[in-house]
Amino acid sequence: MTYTVEVQSLMKSYGGTEVLRGVDLAIAPGSVHGLLGANGAGKTTLVRILATLIGYDGGSARVAGHDVAREAHAVRGAISLTGQYAAVDEVLTARENLTMVARLRRLSRAESAARTDELVARFDLGAIVDRRASTYSGGQRRRLDLAMSMVVPPTLLFLDEPTTGLDPRSRDQVWATVRELADTGVTVLLTTQHLEEADQLADRISVLDGGRVVADGTPEELKTQVAGEVLRLTYGDAATYGAALAALRTPEATGDPVLLTLDVPSNGTPDSLRYLLDTLAVAEASPRRVSMHAPSLDDVFLTLTAPTQEAHR
Ligand code: ATP
Repeated sequence: MTYTVEVQSLMKSYGGTEVLRGVDLAIAPGSVHGLLGANGAGKTTLVRILATLIGYDGGSARVAGHDVAREAHAVRGAISLTGQYAAVDEVLTARENLTMVARLRRLSRAESAARTDELVARFDLGAIVDRRASTYSGGQRRRLDLAMSMVVPPTLLFLDEPTTGLDPRSRDQVWATVRELADTGVTVLLTTQHLEEADQLADRISVLDGGRVVADGTPEELKTQVAGEVLRLTYGDAATYGAALAALRTPEATGDPVLLTLDVPSNGTPDSLRYLLDTLAVAEASPRRVSMHAPSLDDVFLTLTAPTQEAHR
């Protein structure tokens, strides 16, 4: 397969500090790829290199089949940046913003008008299309920003924290829009601190830490890699909690004596649950509540990334 993004052993230093220390990354066409990492892990640096905004010191990086160092012009023709790089002009309306981008991308006047109408419909901007962007809500502005990046659909779209600060409904709408873009064949590189966003949107995720990719996989693969499902038993009093801890005697069970909860690794089958609850009943240590917990991307992030990343730099 020809990957839209192919990065091998990429190195980048600022002064004497190595920020990227041999990064490998492969992103399939039409997929959404999440890039996770603590503050200062090097996500922005990697995106800037791929977007030809800065150079690198070693390794190789290709975007849409072009070398980012030697064929920067071709790479620029294949990419679009949104998010913190927002290009929306506040004093213009959505229609004017879209038409301006279309004209800058050398569409004719008639083509620009037609493309603007198409994008207004697709990104649900009809109600606000002739109002100044300065009056838009956060969600409306994000949708306009995305629409502007799609005037000429890029091969690769960089999205930086696309839903930060949005209410749940606007956030869902932006997520749905991003998925639609990927369905039309656009490859998306998503950088985010928001793990639920990565979980919802990304087909695959790379976790960057200490200048390297320390884990790469689908959200589900990453979650099962760090932890399995856990059965949480909640108690109402310390005596019963203590009796349960003694009765279980499994080294994997972890207890919280303040919250009076016990977490027991479980595969969730009825037989294993029955056995566990029977054992507890015999020991007169039945819990007040039982719930299943699947590992989240938060667990993945906390397990795989070093806590003191930024402090070292
Ligand atoms: P965040 O999540 O906080 O945005 P990030 O993962 O995007 O972080 P980068 O912005 O890529 O991280 O920064 C990686 C490291 O490189 C940080 O320690 C930062 O201080 C350093 N750095 C970034 N740009 C420069 C620069 N122009 N000169 C010197 N150091 C820099």
